[in-house]
Amino acid sequence: MATLDTAVEELSARERQERGETLKREGIVIRTYDLWKTYIMGDQEIHAVSGVDIEIRRGEYVAIMGPSGSGKSTLMNLIGCLDTPTKGLYYLNGKLASDMEDDELARIRNKEIGFVFQTFNSLARATAPPNVELPLIYAGVSSQERLTRAREALRAVDLEQRMLHKPNELSGGQRQRVAIARALVNKPSILLADEPTGALDSATGNEIMALFERLYQEGNTIVLVTHEADIAMHAHRIIHIRDGKVERDEPVAAGALS
Ligand code: ADP
Ligand code: MG
Repeated sequence: MATLDTAVEELSARERQERGETLKREGIVIRTYDLWKTYIMGDQEIHAVSGVDIEIRRGEYVAIMGPSGSGKSTLMNLIGCLDTPTKGLYYLNGKLASDMEDDELARIRNKEIGFVFQTFNSLARATAPPNVELPLIYAGVSSQERLTRAREALRAVDLEQRMLHKPNELSGGQRQRVAIARALVNKPSILLADEPTGALDSATGNEIMALFERLYQEGNTIVLVTHEADIAMHAHRIIHIRDGKVERDEPVAAGALS
């Protein structure tokens, strides 16, 4: 591995770009090479992510699982272009995100990533469509087109009938569906979910996991971050993280949930 990493680190700008084009052509939507995130706390260095190499193909449904403090959120922030690595390369859909400045990073994030967090940061006084449309406003889409696409995204999460309800008139599970509709509305390359069922009771959590399975069946690429093994089992591949490193990377056996 080290030789490969060294080789990649030493690529010229031109070769790095070609590498990205190859990854994109091969349908590899996420590729990290020796990715590091180091925090300095006083005189201590904390390697929250330390030398991670992962590859995720278009159409995969992958869970990133590990105990609290293992570096999941830090890794998710890097994959989601919310943060940049201390060292290493990160290609998102063929583009070298690890080299980007903040404004370019914000643009690629809005275009390529749909985020679902544990709790939905909604506009409390607005109905579902304005909540779902938000990413399209940043993308400069017309209001007519925004409504059409918000409706389509709400249909994809079975909420079209609840369109005119405000967040406080919806259940926790329905609010999380609005969040997923918002994440989908831009037709992102990946759906990135951090503990998406963490605030829900288990029955509602299962409903949300069933929805993710359907979105996967429909061709979406899903990366699910969780510390719970029984949630991770819903994915089709689990990347186990410990102390900022990939400990194991394995497929989930078919029928593992039943
Ligand atoms: P997880 O999401 O798996 O619980 P995190 O990515 O939040 O793990 O944290 C990984 C490690 O990095 C932990 O030791 C945590 O204390 C540390 N860490 C995370 N964010 C910061 C930060 N902004 N500054 C300093 N240390 C941090
Ligand atoms: Mg976390």
